[in-house]
Amino acid sequence: MTVSVDPDLCYGSGECAHRAPSVFTFEGGYGVVRPGREDTGDDSLVQEAAERCPSQAIGITRQGPGPRALP
Ligand code: SF4
Repeated sequence: MTVSVDPDLCYGSGECAHRAPSVFTFEGGYGVVRPGREDTGDDSLVQEAAERCPSQAIGITRQGPGPRALP
């Protein structure tokens, strides 16, 4: 599972960097995922940060193309 921050939604509350500092940090006053930490979507702290982000800017998505649709 991958994690990302939508820069159009984030308003820089800082909660993600406080909750999971090994994954999130600040750049220019906004929350970002640290380089190389994009594959931490399974981490419970990352999921908690996503749930509690006040602007719902943190997205957690499944890696790869996902299940193939049946014909
Ligand atoms: S918790 Fe959400 S709004 Fe706050 S810095 Fe992180 S991504 Fe941005």
